[in-house]
Amino acid sequence: MNFIKFLGTAGARFVMIKQLRASGGIWFEINDTRMIVDPGPGALVRVNKSRPSLKVSHLDAIFVSHKHIDHTNDVNVMIEAMTDGGFNKKGIVLCPSEAIENTPVIFPYAAALVDKVITLSTAAQYQIKNLKLKIPVRLHHQTETYGFILQSDHVPSIGYIPDTAFFPEIISAYANTDIIIINVVFTQPRPLIMHLSLPEALDIISGIKPKKAILTHFGLTMLKERIWEKTQYLSEKLATDIIAASDGMTVEL
Ligand SMILES: [Zn+2]
Repeated sequence: MNFIKFLGTAGARFVMIKQLRASGGIWFEINDTRMIVDPGPGALVRVNKSRPSLKVSHLDAIFVSHKHIDHTNDVNVMIEAMTDGGFNKKGIVLCPSEAIENTPVIFPYAAALVDKVITLSTAAQYQIKNLKLKIPVRLHHQTETYGFILQSDHVPSIGYIPDTAFFPEIISAYANTDIIIINVVFTQPRPLIMHLSLPEALDIISGIKPKKAILTHFGLTMLKERIWEKTQYLSEKLATDIIAASDGMTVEL
């Protein structure tokens, strides 16, 4: 089965710190290729508690969009899990160069356990077993940040837009993506904090016109306003299937 599983949907600091939502990142399992994305605090716990089980030692790649702790806290322990405690050197880590420079969030000892550490750059394209991963654009966040577009045989293309301020080029960069996953922290724009708000995310969805849009990485305002109760209205308004991710949610492809 090809699927995406949300091991966490926490966005802003307090949602993460209080674990109002889990912060384990997103697991992709497509055409026998397994990749975890942004393994924040609790990723290892969420992976091991998943039912049906996720085969952590079968991971092929770990993708880190940027070095903030809600996206990287468990990255080193996930590398240990992917490599059978370091006894089986394998797998790829993809991350911005800032994640391995001073001060690195991916420890040098952990980086040495994997086959390859790839530092991401715009317009680059990488092959991860049966997945093609493209970096469409550098995003606008406090630290070096990239999302991706995934392509593989017989499955829809999947775009991931992690933490970023809004800028119009996001729309052209992710054009023609079938499924788009967007980190939406606020209900209203807060220009000084480089995160997407719901109106900005809806502008992106209207521009890209994907078959499905999945909102995740929620801040407190998104939870207080119970975003999951509004997605049907938003879907009708934009004539696009929009869903709000929940912890443990699996989307079959
Ligand atoms: Zn961030």
